[in-house]
Amino acid sequence: LPLEFQGAMPILRSLHNAGYEAYYVGGSVRDILLNKPIHDVDIATSAFPAEVKELFRRTIDVGIQHGTVMVITKEATYEVTTFRTESTYQDYRRPDHVEFVRSLKEDLKRRDFTINALAVGIDGEVIDLFDGLSDLRNKILRAVGNPYERFHEDALRMMRALRFVSQLGFNLEPQTFEAIYEYHSLLAKISVERINVEFVKLLMGSFRQAGLRSFVESECYIYCPGLRNQGEGLLRFAELGGPAIPTERQAWTVLIDCLGLAEQEIQPFMKEWKCSNQLIKEVRQMVPALAYRKQHEWNDWQLYQLGRELALSVDYLLYYFHQEPNLAKIRLMYQNLKIHSMKDLAIKGNQLMESFDYPRGPWINQVLRAIEKAVVDRRLENHSEELMNFAKDYLRKEQP
Ligand code: ATP
Ligand code: MG
Repeated sequence: LPLEFQGAMPILRSLHNAGYEAYYVGGSVRDILLNKPIHDVDIATSAFPAEVKELFRRTIDVGIQHGTVMVITKEATYEVTTFRTESTYQDYRRPDHVEFVRSLKEDLKRRDFTINALAVGIDGEVIDLFDGLSDLRNKILRAVGNPYERFHEDALRMMRALRFVSQLGFNLEPQTFEAIYEYHSLLAKISVERINVEFVKLLMGSFRQAGLRSFVESECYIYCPGLRNQGEGLLRFAELGGPAIPTERQAWTVLIDCLGLAEQEIQPFMKEWKCSNQLIKEVRQMVPALAYRKQHEWNDWQLYQLGRELALSVDYLLYYFHQEPNLAKIRLMYQNLKIHSMKDLAIKGNQLMESFDYPRGPWINQVLRAIEKAVVDRRLENHSEELMNFAKDYLRKEQP
């Protein structure tokens, strides 16, 4: 049994000793069998949530209505979820209620793909009721049961299928693909937040070429925010080549570059995707910086404005456009900047206030901005006397 599973073994044993069934399930089983690193160990059990809570001293209700209880051990925390079925689906979204059951088979049956419907018991035996092992071996992504029914029940599964193609490099089983193609328009019923999660994983997958091509071929992209007319742009992204894109902000930056959005279109596009303001802020800086960097070397002012981390993050992306990043040079250039923020200036706003006889107003900031740029561009030494002279000159020319 792999190390990650061993840590959770006492939990499975306790459940067993109390007369319940318990298994490792879901993505962790799939990833272990694929020799990939795993993030979270999911445990499924026949014990109902109240029964799980009775057995363990420290638990937290994280999603008790879905049957999930977090069990806390000295070493780690684990999510223990009661076997369940998801009976009635409305609006092609999540089930309106879940029903707890005692049978593993029922629980595995409601899972999306055969490779996600494997379970491992306490003796390390793999329970494979839907031929997931053979699909794992043959790199096939296949819906559990009738794919048309499964995507009709929950349309998010279509996006999950495409992101697994991108993450794992598996092929969509033909009927599974056909069903996605048939039902792609049901994506319109799914919340953007949930599509976003899968879309980002799709963009960041090691096999994004295959993932993005399937995204376009299945026409799922048409029902994603801001992509309706972007089939060609998405295929440009698919054809880029290169390894998995390391971070989310880099993924959005490359995407937007390939889509050819104008600078003022970035914010509305990402807002539609419900991206966080922080992420939008970063990408709005990174996209024009990347476009510039494809044509020119960095200059001090740009590096200063972008900051070290974003500049490195952008430069790394050159690799995807058949150019050489030069991260060492950026580190050096950044280190050699005359100042790294306004705070480093040898003069403060209140000193300006005291030295000049103008009422408080936007002029102070204007002068500071002009000084900042001049210092970064090495036209002006960062010494208080020289900065003050510069301010005098500036204010003579630009009467506040
Ligand atoms: P990841 O490694 O990205 O977490 P995962 O397969 O573990 O991938 P999760 O969202 O963590 O994905 O879901 C855990 C498991 O729950 C899945 O492996 C699958 O068995 C089941 N599952 C998740 N979402 C759905 C869904 N929409 N429909 C059916 N089963 C699902
Ligand atoms: Mg998971």
